[in-house]
Amino acid sequence: MRKPIIAGNWKMHNTIGEARELIEALLPLIEKREREVIVCPSFVCLSEASKLLKGSDVTLGAQNMHYEDKGAYTGEVSPLFLKEIGVSYVILGHSERRHIFGEKDDLINNKVKSALKHGLNPILCVGETLKEREKDNTFEIIQTQIYGGLAGLENENLAKLVIAYEPVWAIGTGKTATKEDANEVIAYIRRLLSEKFGDEIGYNTRILYGGSVKPSNIKELMEMKEIDGALVGGASLKAEDFSKIANY
Ligand code: PEP
Repeated sequence: MRKPIIAGNWKMHNTIGEARELIEALLPLIEKREREVIVCPSFVCLSEASKLLKGSDVTLGAQNMHYEDKGAYTGEVSPLFLKEIGVSYVILGHSERRHIFGEKDDLINNKVKSALKHGLNPILCVGETLKEREKDNTFEIIQTQIYGGLAGLENENLAKLVIAYEPVWAIGTGKTATKEDANEVIAYIRRLLSEKFGDEIGYNTRILYGGSVKPSNIKELMEMKEIDGALVGGASLKAEDFSKIANY
């Protein structure tokens, strides 16, 4: 059985003080369930968040990282820094990283490899733009991003891998993919994983949906056979909304 994951991506929101307030409001609202709840604050808030989350049922994630351990990479953050703070998950290849900051599959692939090497759980994000969907290119794009992001990996490394299917047109727009469409693409990703790494990896890898998930649509998404959880942006910034999603 795949344990569900509900992860909140805070993006570039919340000062340290605001992050503290949000975590303090959130923790008492999270019910003990068979699932993992993750929050991903900005880098500057990670240390404070880590202290506040210690001993709780909520796990800490980061939103990005560099693939090298150290070096002359001004402004970048090493996986070793994340490990030291107590980060367990790291979002990689988010569509905002791909489309605003120009991250390509080979760079993302280096990050995924580095995260796995350091014992971090990568959440590899993939998803098509509206133009690509309208041209009927969704499956081709997903295949390129999955094969590119996971190139050169060996089966035994992959137990910690999580994938998030996030159609770009559904992120922050209020538009959600239908549960059937999300389920279909996630089933396709699972098939790609099976073909490349064998049925065990295909079956066991947790694949999340992301794109305007809210308290009102989480239940129907989670009822779908292939959907193992959600990566949540906007609705993760309010303790009440995020806890309702986490407690679906
Ligand atoms: C995201 O940032 O990964 C995301 C899915 O955002 P939202 O929930 O706001 O669409």
